[in-house]
Amino acid sequence: MAIIIDTNICNGVEACSSNGLCIEICALNALENVDGRPVVDEEKCPECGLCIMNCPNEAISKPQ
Ligand code: SF4
Ligand code: SF4
Repeated sequence: MAIIIDTNICNGVEACSSNGLCIEICALNALENVDGRPVVDEEKCPECGLCIMNCPNEAISKPQ
C-alpha cells in the first residue's frame, strides 16, 4: 500500500503553494516529479505520513 494523492485537489508542483514540498520532504525519495505531478513509488512508501501533514491542500491521504 501507499499514500494516495488526489489529483482533483493537487494541481501539480507549479500550482502548489509549497512548490511540491511533498516531494522535497520525503526522506525515502518515494515521491517523484513526473511531468509536473507528484507520483508515489508504492514500493518505497511505508505511509510515514510526513507528506500528508505537510501538503498545504490536504491532497494526500492514507488508504482507508
Ligand atoms: S504538497 Fe500537496 S499540493 Fe503540493 S504538490 Fe504535493 S500533493 Fe500537490
Ligand atoms: S508517506 Fe512518507 S514515505 Fe510515503 S511518500 Fe509520504 S513522506 Fe514519503
